[in-house]
Amino acid sequence: MDKYKELQKIKDEMEKDKNLPLVSRPEDVIPGDGNPDAEIVFIGEAGGYHESIQRKPFVGQAGQLLNKLLMLAGIKREDVYITNMIKTRPPNNRDPLPEELEAYSRYLDKELEIIKPGIIITLGRFSMGKFLPSAKISSAHGRLYRVNWKGIELFIVPMYHPAASLRNGSVMSQEKEDFLRLPEAMKKIEEMKKQIQEEKNRPEQMELI
Ligand code: URA
Repeated sequence: MDKYKELQKIKDEMEKDKNLPLVSRPEDVIPGDGNPDAEIVFIGEAGGYHESIQRKPFVGQAGQLLNKLLMLAGIKREDVYITNMIKTRPPNNRDPLPEELEAYSRYLDKELEIIKPGIIITLGRFSMGKFLPSAKISSAHGRLYRVNWKGIELFIVPMYHPAASLRNGSVMSQEKEDFLRLPEAMKKIEEMKKQIQEEKNRPEQMELI
């Protein structure tokens, strides 16, 4: 099955899942969206009003800002995949609860297993917490992390949530700087991947006595 169909299957499964919190009808589900062959996956928190109407992540005000930040980094939105921790809109846009994050995590995990992204950009503290549970966003933002997640090597760059930037000018400046530096992080990842591959290809040599 191709990646597009596999992702479509996840959407169908979520729409039929009677145990998913905050979903009372199939149309409440806001599936991930974007290029199934993406090298870069962005993970936000949960949908808001506009996302719940259009059933697409990051199409409201925070989404408009994300589009501008992508342009700063020289990244086309159609080349990336964008999804959320919670694939619906929580009431009054409140923070997700731990049991809600847990309930949706298997669907996010499946998306990542299908796409196998070279780099994951987390937007905000909830998605950062999935991969870097002890990190603090104030010091971790914009930095490149190599993480072993369920036996898979992942590269993660935590970013502030665009909604936080819309509320605070100094966060906005830092976020713009972080996005401007993304191409540098991506170059670094390419170099590290080459190095990892070279190490794997090197003949094994062990001195026994
Ligand atoms: N904020 C998010 O975290 N996700 C969206 O899809 C929209 C706003």
